[in-house]
Amino acid sequence: MFTIGCHLSSSKGFLHMGKEAVSLGANTFQFFTRNPRGFSSKEPDPKDCEEFIKFWSENGGGKIVAHAPYTLNACSAEEKTRKLAYLLMSDDLKRMELVPGNYYNFHPGSHVKQGVEKGIDYIVEFLNNVITPEQQTTVLLETMAGKGSEIGRTFEELQAIIERVEHKEKIGVCMDTCHIFDGGYDIINDLDGVFEQFDRIIGLNKLYAVHVNDSKNIMGSHKDRHECIGKGNIGIEAFERFINHKAVKGLPMILETPNDLPGYKQEIELLKGLYKE
Ligand code: FE
Ligand code: FE
Ligand code: ZN
Repeated sequence: MFTIGCHLSSSKGFLHMGKEAVSLGANTFQFFTRNPRGFSSKEPDPKDCEEFIKFWSENGGGKIVAHAPYTLNACSAEEKTRKLAYLLMSDDLKRMELVPGNYYNFHPGSHVKQGVEKGIDYIVEFLNNVITPEQQTTVLLETMAGKGSEIGRTFEELQAIIERVEHKEKIGVCMDTCHIFDGGYDIINDLDGVFEQFDRIIGLNKLYAVHVNDSKNIMGSHKDRHECIGKGNIGIEAFERFINHKAVKGLPMILETPNDLPGYKQEIELLKGLYKE
């Protein structure tokens, strides 16, 4: 089954997002757990969550993806920033139990001047503190473009984290097409090769979700500027091959392109048209 959707505003709750997704022709969606550039949020309403779960299953909805705020940095040099990251994510994961069995995606972090190794040490420590064996949510590390000192710009960096996570069944990867392209992975001319690398280094069984975004910049630019599908440097033919690749069959695919809701609706239709059963 083709599982496609887009990023939605969470300000009106889960049931509202579910209905919005269905109206766009989507069967998945992503949302920020809190203000993406701050930390504020309101508590989810258990009744709204229950109504959403019922509505979503009746409408054939797939797994949904929560996205942590951008400001969360699990590998900051500042202890108080790392502590805050822990408090926020553990609170988010507790809330996610109201909509159990879904995904929670986060940016691994920026090491700033500490170096990749130190950064990875902090992220591993963080994940081993924040992930509990009881949780029903799978935490996803997002593949990053490698802007500044971002960790997660290579599959090797993500694997170096995953291999040291204690509860391995609770951790996976969300692949962002704009980010890996900007990170230097040639998904236009060597898609099979990119997935082979992912499989060899991390394992395709650890790939749980995808962000489908075109890129305003060229391969290897390490910039991270999303573009609408077909309007950037990745291009429509590459997306047609990507969404039909066996490595991502059935995974939730989330658009994070610069669109309003009608734009997302069009892009969802576009990708559905390119998808071959
Ligand atoms: Fe992201
Ligand atoms: Fe993304
Ligand atoms: Zn991005």
